[in-house]
Amino acid sequence: MEYDMPLYRPPSEGRSLIFQVTLGCSWNKCLFCGMYKGKRFTARPWEDLSADIIEMSRYQPHTKKVFLADGDPLCLETDYLIKTLDLLNETFPALERVSTYAGPTNLMGKSIDELKELRKRKLDVLYLGIETGNDALLKKIHKGATAQEIIDGSKKAIEAGLRMSTFIILGLGGAEGSLDHAKDSARVANAINPHFLATLTLMLGQYEEVYEKKLMGGNFKLLNKMQSLQELRWFVEDLTVTGCKFGTEHASNYLPINGTLPEDKEKILDLIDRAMKDENSRLLRPEWSRGL
Ligand code: SF4
Repeated sequence: MEYDMPLYRPPSEGRSLIFQVTLGCSWNKCLFCGMYKGKRFTARPWEDLSADIIEMSRYQPHTKKVFLADGDPLCLETDYLIKTLDLLNETFPALERVSTYAGPTNLMGKSIDELKELRKRKLDVLYLGIETGNDALLKKIHKGATAQEIIDGSKKAIEAGLRMSTFIILGLGGAEGSLDHAKDSARVANAINPHFLATLTLMLGQYEEVYEKKLMGGNFKLLNKMQSLQELRWFVEDLTVTGCKFGTEHASNYLPINGTLPEDKEKILDLIDRAMKDENSRLLRPEWSRGL
């Protein structure tokens, strides 16, 4: 099996066997995301996908975890996904769970019964970027969904028995929109009550100037380290999620944290407060070691 590069997967899927069901992202319009800008979206033909699955079942017959790539395989017709999951279950008898990325527009297009059919076939975790809960910002970044649509789609998936792993992007609202971004994102996370919640921090590298001036408008200013920590605090202090694994360990974040909410909320807030007292704190990831 050969992968069509670039290939992305969440850090927690490091031990999963990956199959590319689609190439690229069916939406591919989010302003901050360059992951699949160089790929034209296509659904892989069944002959190619099934041949990959059968081939890999010979090499790795004991596979327990599978991740479906690329950006949002859930955009495909449910029948095609059922056929894919059925073949995975048939060829990998030890299969325990299948996970994939999902965009909010994918979930809007699936009924609860369709999602239940996928769940029955061991589809388990959906990784979904909330990005922000702020409607004006969602529109500005071309996410293609409102906060309410993200909530409704995610809740539908949870009701169907799927586990939601969601994340927001710190810094997405810039310095001016920071407070609204943090508070609205917490509101949306609370409404979804996902199983996993994480943050990433906006990093633009060489595109910083273009992003600030041309895409987001003249007033947009990226957050500095301390502003990013303040935004994280505003976000966490409003969270009322329950039974939720929370993590900021992604390499783009300044302060790596993990815990369970609500149990660890005070500890997490205390850690953020300690980090905010000193921008050279050893709690913080040095700039050179941050990455996407
Ligand atoms: S839906 Fe996800 S993968 Fe597609 S453009 Fe937006 S952020 Fe990128």
